[in-house]
Amino acid sequence: MTALLLDGKQLAQTMQAEIAADVAAFVKQYHTRPGLAAVLVGDNPASQIYVRNKRRACEKVGIDSFLHELPASATQAELLALVARLNADPAVSGILVQLPLPKQINEAAVVDAVEPMKDVDGFGPESLGLLAAGRPRFLACTPYGVQQLLVRNKIEPAGKHVVIVGRSNIVGRPLALILLQKGPGADATVTVCHSRTRDIGAVTRSADIIVMAIGQARFLKADMVRPGAVVIDVGMNRLPDGSLAGDVDFDGVRQVASAITPVPGGVGPMTIAMLLKNTLEAARFQQEALNAALDLRQQTR
Ligand code: NAP
Repeated sequence: MTALLLDGKQLAQTMQAEIAADVAAFVKQYHTRPGLAAVLVGDNPASQIYVRNKRRACEKVGIDSFLHELPASATQAELLALVARLNADPAVSGILVQLPLPKQINEAAVVDAVEPMKDVDGFGPESLGLLAAGRPRFLACTPYGVQQLLVRNKIEPAGKHVVIVGRSNIVGRPLALILLQKGPGADATVTVCHSRTRDIGAVTRSADIIVMAIGQARFLKADMVRPGAVVIDVGMNRLPDGSLAGDVDFDGVRQVASAITPVPGGVGPMTIAMLLKNTLEAARFQQEALNAALDLRQQTR
C-alpha cells in the first residue's frame, strides 16, 4: 500500500481563500478590519521567519498586522507593559506573542497576561479551560490545523482510536481535548503518550489515527503502525545537513499507512491558516460585544 498524501499546503491555500472572503464580508458589515498584533522578542532567526510568514498571510486575506519588536535584553515588565497596551487597543483583535521568549522572561506570566478575548494562539488558561470544559472558544492553531486536515480530507475522528504522541501545551494536550469534544470533527477515543510511556509501539499499533508531536526525527517506524492507519506528523526537526524531517520515518511508514502528511507541506501551513481564522473570530467577538454595549446604553438612556 502507498499512502494517500494529505496536502496541507493546498488545503491551507483553499482555507485562506475562504477566510479572505469572510474577512471581506466582515469589513462590509462592520466597516473595520480585523487586526493581528505580533510581538517578537529578540533575534531568534526561526521566530523571525514564523512571524514574517504570519504577517504575510494576514496581508493576503485582508487582516491588518502590526509588528512589535523588543530587544533580546527586554525585561518581563517591558513585555507585560506592551501586552497591556495591546490588550486595550481596539485596532488589535488578536495578539500573538512568538515563543520561545528569552530566559529572563517567564513565558507563563506573559501567556496569562494576554486578554482572553484576544488569545488567538489559544495558549491562555481561559482558552484551555473552556476547551477542557467542553465549551471551546479559541483552539490552539496547530492542533486546530490537525483536526481540519483530517476532516477536510473526509477522515472523521468520530469513534476512531486516536493515539497522540507528545503532551505539550501547544500541540498534544490541546489536540487531545479537541478530539474528545462532543460533535462533528471530534468524538474520538483518545490516548496520549509521552516520554514516560512504556512500549509506545504497542500503543501506536492499536491506533486508527496516529499524531506524532515529539520533536524526534523519524521516530515512528513502519512496524509501529497498523496497516491502513492514518498518520499525521506535526514534528519539524532540522537535520545536520540543514534539511527538515518530521517525527515519522516517512519513506517506511507511507508503505503501510492509508494516508500520511508530508514534512514540510503538511501540518505547518495549516497552523497559519487557523491563526487567521481565530483572528477573524476574535474581531467578530469584539464587534458583537461593542454592539451589545451600544444597545445597552441606548436602552438605559
Ligand atoms: P515539546 O514542548 O518539546 O514537547 C515534546 C513532547 O514530546 C513532550 O510531551 C515529551 O514528553 C514528548 N516526547 C519527547 N521525546 C519523546 C519520546 N522519545 N517518546 C515519547 N514522547 C516523547 O514539543 P512541541 O512544542 O509540542 O513540538 C513537538 C514537535 O512539533 C517539534 O518538532 C516542533 O518543532 C513541532 N511543531 C510543529 C508545529 C507546526 O506548525 N507544524 C507547531 C508546533 C510544534 P514529556 O512531556 O514526558 O517530556
